[in-house]
Amino acid sequence: MKKISFVIPCHNEEANLPKLYDELDRFTRASYQVSVKETGTETGTTHPVDMNVYDFEFLFVNDGSGDGTLAIMRELRKKDSRVSVVNLSRNFGKENAMLAGMDYASGDALVIMDADLQDPIEVVPEMIYWWEKGYDDVYGKRASRGQESAMRKILSLSFYNMLKKMSDIDILPNVGDFRLLDRRAVRALTGLRETQRYMKGLYCWVGFEKKEVVFDRGDRENGKSSYKLAKLVNLAIEGITSYTTTPLRISTVAGIIVSLMAFGYLVYMFVKTLLWGEVVTGFPTLICVILFLGGMQLLALGIIGEYIGRIFNETKRRPPYIIESFNEERNSLTQ
Ligand code: UDP
Ligand code: MG
Repeated sequence: MKKISFVIPCHNEEANLPKLYDELDRFTRASYQVSVKETGTETGTTHPVDMNVYDFEFLFVNDGSGDGTLAIMRELRKKDSRVSVVNLSRNFGKENAMLAGMDYASGDALVIMDADLQDPIEVVPEMIYWWEKGYDDVYGKRASRGQESAMRKILSLSFYNMLKKMSDIDILPNVGDFRLLDRRAVRALTGLRETQRYMKGLYCWVGFEKKEVVFDRGDRENGKSSYKLAKLVNLAIEGITSYTTTPLRISTVAGIIVSLMAFGYLVYMFVKTLLWGEVVTGFPTLICVILFLGGMQLLALGIIGEYIGRIFNETKRRPPYIIESFNEERNSLTQ
């Protein structure tokens, strides 16, 4: 029997977990009819997808929650042996929590889902359908983004556009972590052990056969999103610097352009002084140019610094996360 693992990173999700578990449990007992449209055909076809032919695992990763999340997970595990609990030693962030989940999940396919019920489980049968057709990475594409501030929507869309322009490999806009991954893709992803992970980039980087499933993103059931604006900006810088070195190239090109302009101006001044003699004027211009160049230099230094910082962090070769316990076994940290 093929096994499907649900991998669910959780950070302070005590209010959502019981409902999520109920949904998962109900999901595994049903059989579904999925209507799909094959590419190139006009009319959709309906196919049965029966969950009874699969084994399931619900792998919850507790990412350093400060509330009763872990207790609820353990409670669920007592009730249902399909539940596994990976407990991280502190909050490592969603990207690393997902990696931990991928490392510990045992399924032939992994479904990565948020704990806050924003990712509708109803689209998973369609994902499974495409997986059975041979796709390795069936990702959910958001038709709508749920309740988000207009500011956040604009920022994330322009961020995706910028990334797309900067790198050779496309990062798909409106595609999050909600997806089904075949074991092959999981093996590739877990093989990438960089400590500063930007998963959305990595999914695209590893390649494999991809298929898109469109869904409407719901609103968060309970609690608040852990992603504040500052955190999102950080994630964006993280995304750019971990994914592409184009900013370095931009500062090189800007440097060349400014130097050429300065040289042109120098020749102009030289000729002008030779012909008409020198008059010391243009103090404001001088200040502007100096400040402008100073700013450019700081910016370029900052960009270089971002990359050096990343090199520094990677050279420490720290693990991306530390496990406090897996199911009941406590990690002695002596392996
Ligand atoms: N999450 C996590 N660690 C964190 C922050 C979030 O594991 O440090 C989990 C969280 O529990 C949820 C998922 O990542 O299951 C998405 O988080 P959230 O809903 O806060 O993000 P958003 O939906 O706003 O992108
Ligand atoms: Mg959410």
